[in-house]
Amino acid sequence: MVPEGMVSDRFNLPDADVTFRSSDQVIFRVHLRNLETHSDGFPPSAISPGSGEVVDLSEPAATLDLLFQYIYPQRQPDLTEIELPLLSDLAEAVEKYQVYSAMDICKIFMGNGLQDNPLTVLNYAVRHGYPDIADEAAPLTISLPLEEVGMHMHQMYMGSWLRYYGEWQKILELAYAEGWRIGHTSTCRISNSTTCPHWLAARQNVLIKLGARPGVLNDLAMIFTTAHGLYPCAIESLRQWEYFIVVKVKDIPKFRTFL
Ligand SMILES: [Zn+2]
Repeated sequence: MVPEGMVSDRFNLPDADVTFRSSDQVIFRVHLRNLETHSDGFPPSAISPGSGEVVDLSEPAATLDLLFQYIYPQRQPDLTEIELPLLSDLAEAVEKYQVYSAMDICKIFMGNGLQDNPLTVLNYAVRHGYPDIADEAAPLTISLPLEEVGMHMHQMYMGSWLRYYGEWQKILELAYAEGWRIGHTSTCRISNSTTCPHWLAARQNVLIKLGARPGVLNDLAMIFTTAHGLYPCAIESLRQWEYFIVVKVKDIPKFRTFL
């Protein structure tokens, strides 16, 4: 990390012929030859060597310090140590400047981050054409607060996301209807009577947990396992109900089909 208003320690090479300035005013001096062979998206003004011009880039020094390491033949930075916000900035810069040597590794590490940061990863994946990652991250974004999605989902894809969310909402409605439709015929294991009073309580328990937000469909296993434990004689009906919902969730079209 380079302090503000300084010259990069790592990229201050004496015979460098291109000078960049980060958004936080750190100077980076690199070689045109390396830029040309490893990337394809730097501003054309940078590609007029020896002009002595300082080219301003919109990325902060921390991002450029990582980015430029990929255009030199050296050991690449250890991305396992990097937090997702910086990794995400790097991944964006890599795509923007077409730094080919870093694209695949950034894609892998962004994909690894989807459990913890599904929305950031979904945005990255849809904007840069990685549908596999988008399909995997999208279901997890359904569990996020709507206001968070509204604030951070890339505007261009908000319509796609809302249509996708609508599919989940429909499944939640079907899940409710199925809960009311399913009967309970097995004998009671607790009271030994033929009419088991526990199914009503079991159904009530699950309905309350299902609530009103479709993101709950990501937690089905937990909800039904808890209910099995509480209402063992309702287990067949609960299983039947859960299976119905799981199949419907599995049938939700992939996110890429909404793009
Ligand atoms: Zn019972």
